[in-house]
Amino acid sequence: MKKINEALQWQEATKLVQIGNHSDDQTGAVSTPIYLSTTYAHPELGKSTGYDYTRTANPTRQVVEQALAQLENGRCGFAVSSGMSAIQLVFELFPCGSRFLVSRDLYGGSYRYFDALTKKGFGYFTYFDTLDELEKAIGSETSAVFLETPTNPLMNELDIAKAAQLAKKHDALLIVDNTFLTPILQKPLTLGADIVVHSATKFLGGHNDLLAGAVITASDELGEKLAFALNTTGAVLSPFDSWLLIRGLKTLALRVTQQEKNARKLVSYLKQEALIKEVFYPERGSMISIKLISADQIPSFLSALELFTFAESLGGVESLVTYPTTQTHADIPKDLRESYGLTDDLLRLSIGIEAADDLIEDIQQALEKSAAR
Ligand SMILES: *Cc1c(COP(=O)(O)O)cnc(C)c1O
Repeated sequence: MKKINEALQWQEATKLVQIGNHSDDQTGAVSTPIYLSTTYAHPELGKSTGYDYTRTANPTRQVVEQALAQLENGRCGFAVSSGMSAIQLVFELFPCGSRFLVSRDLYGGSYRYFDALTKKGFGYFTYFDTLDELEKAIGSETSAVFLETPTNPLMNELDIAKAAQLAKKHDALLIVDNTFLTPILQKPLTLGADIVVHSATKFLGGHNDLLAGAVITASDELGEKLAFALNTTGAVLSPFDSWLLIRGLKTLALRVTQQEKNARKLVSYLKQEALIKEVFYPERGSMISIKLISADQIPSFLSALELFTFAESLGGVESLVTYPTTQTHADIPKDLRESYGLTDDLLRLSIGIEAADDLIEDIQQALEKSAAR
């Protein structure tokens, strides 16, 4: 654990691979030991080894929490049981009746949570599409701005530094969901955000085998508040899942770089493909949305795919295709969805690390089959 902190001069790829190495001085284990013990003996009354009970602190979880904090250039990191529990943990910071401004085009589960909070009278959520709209809506009564960039699934980028300036001016916190780009491509805290959240189920874990979330704070003060809230509410990541996340993070730089390379190749093909109406790509990362010529083609296109898997989620080594209308964004009312461009002819692609040419070929043959029907 110490070594990682001392090695700030290392490049990111190096730091990632070294997560957890030298974390156990007693045995020299290169792979972080999984500490399953939920409770820890006290040497004597009033003394502690630093570990008392696993909800409060666990040695395996601490390794990944320190790594997450460092990766996002933050002060404190928290590893929790899912992306949604990461978002829920952050909203523990605010009192009832708080006002929030939220980017409109975002993960359907976040919308569903904010809608549920609104319905039970916890807070007021107002949605914005652009930073001009944010600037008009923000005021001294705003507690926090929550945004996802690039937006999901329409891939518009929002300027985090500018949003941070607006939030600071009005004493509001800026919370950024950094799931899509990961700290390899975007570091919101460095751009002025106060809190970053992740669905670590996606790129950070990277293998479609782990449900996890992360929260990273820019300040110790916010970190202390969240540590209290997490110990109180308890959705911590289990020791085994913490180890899986460590294992995933070791290859994050490698994966994200290859996924982006593949995505760029795919985008060049998609943009000149006559059977695709529109391509949405923010020029970085490996998330692409496409609109087919007609929504009627969607069922046959999906069943014709041989390599891409039709499944929700994203960011793993396997390429996936998602239909937001019935999957990730089904909880956003149809009229609302369509009003900002999330129409039922849109598909979202998460590009993995397969050979790019195989991915292109798969899309091409599926498009041809669905068009011929
Ligand atoms: C998946 C996702 C979430 C929710 O994370 P879970 O790990 O599924 O709970 C939140 N935000 C974004 C952008 C996501 O893609």
